[in-house]
Amino acid sequence: MIEILYCGICHSDIHSVRDEWGRGNYPMVPGHEIVGRVSRTGAGVTRFKPGNLVGVGCFVDSCRGCSACKSGQENYCEKGALFTYNSHDKEGNATRGGYSSHIVVDENYVLRIPDGLSPNRAAPLLCAGITTYSPLKHWKVGRGHSLGVVGLGGLGHMAVKFGASLGAKVTVFSSSAHKREESSHLGAHNFVLTKEKKTMDGLLNSFDFIIDTVSATHDVDSLLALLRREGTLILVGAPGDPLSLSTFSLIMGRRTMAGSLIGGIKETQEMLDYCAKRDVQADVEVIPVSRVNEAYERVLRGDVRYRFVLDMKTL
Ligand code: NAP
Ligand code: ZN
Ligand code: ZN
Repeated sequence: MIEILYCGICHSDIHSVRDEWGRGNYPMVPGHEIVGRVSRTGAGVTRFKPGNLVGVGCFVDSCRGCSACKSGQENYCEKGALFTYNSHDKEGNATRGGYSSHIVVDENYVLRIPDGLSPNRAAPLLCAGITTYSPLKHWKVGRGHSLGVVGLGGLGHMAVKFGASLGAKVTVFSSSAHKREESSHLGAHNFVLTKEKKTMDGLLNSFDFIIDTVSATHDVDSLLALLRREGTLILVGAPGDPLSLSTFSLIMGRRTMAGSLIGGIKETQEMLDYCAKRDVQADVEVIPVSRVNEAYERVLRGDVRYRFVLDMKTL
């Protein structure tokens, strides 16, 4: 049993609450960027004890028997992972997320928050952090690569931090001019306003990888055109409506378009340990629970620097 201290507000919470993915069960308690302290443990628990600072991300169980689960990629469980909220457990009970005082989670799905990470700045790592770290590691993005990051919100700002920390040359593609200056503080080497066609044209065929975090439908053909021959566009943003694309954007230059979903427990722990070692933490605005609706509106306007985190003391 974990007493929740902080919970990040992910755009997925907003998609879910507003039923933009069409699979919402209500009443719903969102929240999957959870940091708290263990308050009690069951008799069989060996890895944690009361007082430990821990994290819980997007899922709290999985089948444990399929090839994905056996290889530590429970996020891709073939039977479907049990999500932290808006899922149903084996007994048919609805799972409820982190906008809450407590949560009870099997120890195998709980992460250790290493010393050196601040509890509120660590919360967004449990989703925004692992969702951007995992594809960068999978595609071995690093020194010598040029990386584009599209959308500078919660996920995007973590992609910039990880990309720069792994040694890539990072360019932010944004629809918000006011984010230009801040992007360099986050570690970006270049900033491009996607509506500036001339600048976009000057960058055609120049990126090895682009990670796309945009939460709404948008033009992907113009992003694919920025990729080098055999470059890869990695979608992590999850708009409710389908995207359209011209097949020419892929066949010209043998380009790849891929997707990636959060990360497994082992890799999430590896990411947290990496963050502690390299001092990579989220930039957060900590707010009381009474401001949650206002925070949702601000996220929807792109007015977020770069993750709202709820202080659960205020619940
Ligand atoms: P966020 O903080 O709202 O950031 C999204 C950013 O996308 C915005 O800040 C904005 O950046 C840009 N954007 C928004 N609407 C746009 C539009 N109409 N056209 C162009 N750009 C637009 O959201 P987030 O929490 O980072 O989540 C981003 C997406 O990833 C959501 O769809 C979420 O559900 C999804 N997600 C996926 C996974 C996964 O495992 N794959 C995990 C977590 C979240 P600029 O102002 O810079 O343009
Ligand atoms: Zn999330
Ligand atoms: Zn499984």
